[in-house]
Amino acid sequence: MAAEFREFQIFVKPVGARCNLNCSYCYYHEKMDIEVTVPGGIMSDEVPERYIRQHIEASTEPEIFFSWHGGEPILAGLDFFRRAVTFQKALMPADRTIPSAFSGLSAAVFLPWR
Ligand code: SF4
Repeated sequence: MAAEFREFQIFVKPVGARCNLNCSYCYYHEKMDIEVTVPGGIMSDEVPERYIRQHIEASTEPEIFFSWHGGEPILAGLDFFRRAVTFQKALMPADRTIPSAFSGLSAAVFLPWR
């Protein structure tokens, strides 16, 4: 019997629709002003930790993909992603790998990370 795979991805938006660009075609403009419930507009530490744990537990494939989406996800800052990688490394099963990707224009790379 073939092994059952449940390959899936979840796109997580650590800063919601916030972005430091202003593309004319952007469908997020009307969403950028939506009030977020955490100080600084960045996802609190508990959420990515819970998400990473649940995503790893639910994944059956050898590679467990993580996709950080936006707006511009790297506006969450370098420390946010350092903590996320720390959670991923701590929870990653020994026989699995965890590729991570940013979905954004990454223009904030040229700005100082918080
Ligand atoms: S980079 Fe993306 S989220 Fe930012 S303004 Fe352009 S289309 Fe919108």
